[in-house]
Amino acid sequence: MRSIFVLEELTISKIAAGEVVDRPASVVKELIENSIDAGSSHVIVEVGNGGRDYIQVTDDGCGISEGDVAVAFEKHATSKIKQIEDLTSLQTLGFRGEALPSIAAVSRIVLSTRHEREDFGTQLTIEGGVIKDRRKVTRSVGTTIEIKSLFYNLPARIGTLKSKSTELRHIVDVCINYAVIYPEIKFELVHDEYPIISTVGTGNMLDAIVNTFGSGIAKELIKLKEPDFPQHSATITGYISKPAVSYGTKKHLFVYVNRRFVKSEVVEKAIKRGYMSLLPKHAYPFAVVSLCIDPREINVNIHPKKRELSFYHANDVFHYIVDAVSTTLRHADLIPEVVQRDTSTETRAVDLFGLPKTKKATESVQTLFQEAITAGEFAEREGGGRLNIRPTPLYQVLDSYVIAQSEEDDVIMIDQHAAAERINYEKLIERYGERIDKQALLRPYMPELSPHQFYQISENESVLRDMGFDIELLGDGYIIRAIPVVFYGMIEENEITDVMMQLVEERGKREERIKVLFSTAACKASIKAGEKQSYEAMRELVERLKTAKLPYTCPHGRPTMIRLSKTEIEKRFKRR
Ligand code: ADP
Ligand code: MG
Repeated sequence: MRSIFVLEELTISKIAAGEVVDRPASVVKELIENSIDAGSSHVIVEVGNGGRDYIQVTDDGCGISEGDVAVAFEKHATSKIKQIEDLTSLQTLGFRGEALPSIAAVSRIVLSTRHEREDFGTQLTIEGGVIKDRRKVTRSVGTTIEIKSLFYNLPARIGTLKSKSTELRHIVDVCINYAVIYPEIKFELVHDEYPIISTVGTGNMLDAIVNTFGSGIAKELIKLKEPDFPQHSATITGYISKPAVSYGTKKHLFVYVNRRFVKSEVVEKAIKRGYMSLLPKHAYPFAVVSLCIDPREINVNIHPKKRELSFYHANDVFHYIVDAVSTTLRHADLIPEVVQRDTSTETRAVDLFGLPKTKKATESVQTLFQEAITAGEFAEREGGGRLNIRPTPLYQVLDSYVIAQSEEDDVIMIDQHAAAERINYEKLIERYGERIDKQALLRPYMPELSPHQFYQISENESVLRDMGFDIELLGDGYIIRAIPVVFYGMIEENEITDVMMQLVEERGKREERIKVLFSTAACKASIKAGEKQSYEAMRELVERLKTAKLPYTCPHGRPTMIRLSKTEIEKRFKRR
């Protein structure tokens, strides 16, 4: 009895299709890529019922010639590469020739296209991969491809699709990913006949960001600068958020390499590192980072969906991005405004968690786009970076905050503890760098430890010794003979255990631990909230803050100051 058979052609293509198209959003992705590759300047994506009912993409690209149109649906048919060597100089998003045949195998397609050098167009109807109809049509140059009843012949796949709003959310994400990095293309997304995204297509990335993520976030962005030591093989552009905007996840990091949206841990880590102590520990900024790099430096082919990518010189790339981000932040004015739009919650122009069901909601989406805010409004603050606080007058309020004035006549409110922490932290870094000196205690100290504390210390003995604590197991406790010099005279005996616990809880690398050590020491050495300050002390605080390298946040990432702008004050008093 035979039990091994060669699969039928159609079965094979259905299986293969599953790797390229697993949900409506991946169809949208492939079609948008084809439109971009065709040199389009206007791409319209229309979907129905989260993409289940129909997906239609219309572009004004070069079109497909009469002779090529049927070939495009054959497996591994591509106009983009001819031989393997072409991969190293690839200029297009597609090259596998997989998308169209895969989509065709699992849907009903109507394609209409006219090539730029032909006077008429071709319309093709395909069902489950088989051409059912072909005719000449009159139409403008470009391509319209309509995918109906996706997965109609793969019922199991339909079952794995999520709700309409989830599928739409994925489609929106795909459209945003391309709209931001191809700002010269006007993208439109329409769902169930309601417009959802519409970019202006000016070629300016900030415009595209405003159109997709909204002006709320765009106002909080700073344009990336090239680092002081550029690398010959790479350039970097994009926007990163001021530290006042941060999130608990990496979801708001948009990384592109050679205009391809990618997931790259190296780049993500580098962005985070670039913020140094400006952000709290587990917080990530909003960032759109576009890296252009010699194609020979990367490997794009490691994932069929071309999402993950590796660098041959990952370390160089890492340091390059860290440099760019930190240079940018150093030169920026980072004082948060008191009156601020709420950017901590997602303020996308496209906020789809509630679909635009009512007419009213739709209108508001539309009006947002009609505002047509352009990048001009958010022009980079050139020559920023210097902290322009006037030496006088200064006032202390609530025994915790120093009120000052900026050279631009804004009112600046400084958190005295956070500011002192920043100053002391930088002093320690400058003095010790990576070095940890210890100081013997006059009398060895034996703290009372809870079982948990005892366990933590015994697990981390070597770490603690490395950080400057001379500890030794004695009976069922620990005796401490020396502590890091930065704490000497700064903390009470009974605080030593707390400090050790903070250090062992930092699971990062040694340099991260040193940061914790110094920031804890800086905290201990700093004036507290609730303490009165003399005028002289306030002056010194402000003067020293002005010379700090990163004056805007404390070493834990909290702001040291906030600003109430003169304009805002005037508005409130109805003078404007
Ligand atoms: P790939 O993009 O990897 O080449 P596809 O299956 O996505 O493979 O497309 C096959 C070919 O069809 C492309 O190489 C291109 O020549 C042509 N094509 C597809 N979509 C379009 C379009 N929107 N405009 C012009 N040509 C297109
Ligand atoms: Mg393609």
